[in-house]
Amino acid sequence: MAKSQEEVLKKNHEEVWKNCLKIIKDNVNQQSFKTWFDPIRPVKLDSNVLTIQVPSQFFYEWLEEHYITLLRKTIKREMGNDARLEYRIVVDNSSGTSPYTVNYPNYNTGENKNPDVLTPISMGGNAIKNPFIIPGLKKVNVESQLKPAYNFDSFVEGDCNRLARSAGFAVATKPPGGTAFNPLVVYGGVGLGKTHLTHAIGNQFKQNFPNKTVLYVSSEKFTNQFIDSIKNNSVNDFIHFYQVIDVLIVDDIQFFANKDKTQDMFFHIFNHLHQNSKQLILTSDRAPKDLEGMEERLLSRFKWGLAADLQTPDFETRIAILEKKMYSDGIELPREVVEFVAYNINTNIRELEGALTSLLAQASLNKKEIDLDLAKKIIKNFVKSVSREVSIDYIQKTVCEHFGVAVEKLKEKTRKRQIVQARQLSMFLAKNYTKNSLKVIGKHFGGRDHSTVIHSCQAIQNLLDTDPKFKESVLDVQKKIQMSIG
Ligand code: ADP
Ligand code: MG
Repeated sequence: MAKSQEEVLKKNHEEVWKNCLKIIKDNVNQQSFKTWFDPIRPVKLDSNVLTIQVPSQFFYEWLEEHYITLLRKTIKREMGNDARLEYRIVVDNSSGTSPYTVNYPNYNTGENKNPDVLTPISMGGNAIKNPFIIPGLKKVNVESQLKPAYNFDSFVEGDCNRLARSAGFAVATKPPGGTAFNPLVVYGGVGLGKTHLTHAIGNQFKQNFPNKTVLYVSSEKFTNQFIDSIKNNSVNDFIHFYQVIDVLIVDDIQFFANKDKTQDMFFHIFNHLHQNSKQLILTSDRAPKDLEGMEERLLSRFKWGLAADLQTPDFETRIAILEKKMYSDGIELPREVVEFVAYNINTNIRELEGALTSLLAQASLNKKEIDLDLAKKIIKNFVKSVSREVSIDYIQKTVCEHFGVAVEKLKEKTRKRQIVQARQLSMFLAKNYTKNSLKVIGKHFGGRDHSTVIHSCQAIQNLLDTDPKFKESVLDVQKKIQMSIG
């Protein structure tokens, strides 16, 4: 009986792999296929995990670097969406004893690989309890879990992130614990770049200190590992594992709220690392002082270093982010479309990217050029209130940004020419773009009366008729306001 079952299983992984090879063959040239895919042997299929055997470490790295996308797509097509790939590597044993194999999960890390570190973890048997550990001969290798794409080059700097970014950069440039920013706590709402920035710090640090060990872990993963280690009776391994890290990045620590045991464990690991001049980088969706369900002693540790927030990016930064993304994806869009998207998506960067993606998807689906009209249609789905009426405040803000004057000045009595012009233009636009009465408009400008508003509108009309340069600049402002109306 057992044998026939075995046969069924065997057939499965072999069949699955055979089908994969068919797809792969169509996607790589003959020579590459012969070199890199012929030598692969399917070993087993365990629910959604297909294990393949490759001849060497180098082989494995090459596949991960060059063919991972193809491999992933292929096994997903063959085995469904949650299909995973594991490697078994035949280790060439030069001492003459028989070769043996080690299993590697498929992670595509690339250059931010950590060096091997000696750890007190018992490597006996094949019980590798920690998912971050790849077994080696004597040493273990900690996968950094860093995404290479999340680096400082791809992270656009703006007022919204300047402090966090420069503190992060400093942390990445000094040896672990070499700055006063320990821990560095980066906090801010969803989609504002916490994960991206902390990966960038980790990646940059790895470039400066290739021999140090960096680990990125989400709080959720940390918690689950800890729970597993209790179940498996391997809490000591868990602790030891975390103690060898030089730079520990823990993402979304708000997740620790009300998890007393996990907090307790984290507290000890935190202390150990901090005492040994190791760097801690934490992120949270709110300021440490606003974290609820956290032990006081843990919160007090967070105050030891620096808490820096990420804010919503301003218009210029949003444009810069879109442009960077377009550049790296090799896309070009009309300037007015970029501006339109940046104007209307002002919640967070993830949504900004989502809007861009959906714009591109729609355009390629309909085989249409992306122009402002198409953008307006598509972005409508993204913004909740599309035809919101523009407010006097918004007009004032836009005009003042354009003229480089402070909004408060509009409400004061200043007679400086530039301010008078900004004030009059704001009134003019408020009259044209809002349904407010002249009286209400006057009120928004430091309680001026309606005749002042009429006079201002006339003055602007005169200028528009006589001064082409002024007219051009008004058109610019108008365009910005119209964009916000959609
Ligand atoms: P958070 O972790 O705060 O929810 P993420 O780090 O996941 O946010 O960022 C959301 C998306 O926005 C990611 O795709 C990220 O690359 C991008 N992003 C965030 N901040 C920036 C920035 N300053 N420059 C470029 N892209 C950014
Ligand atoms: Mg995040």
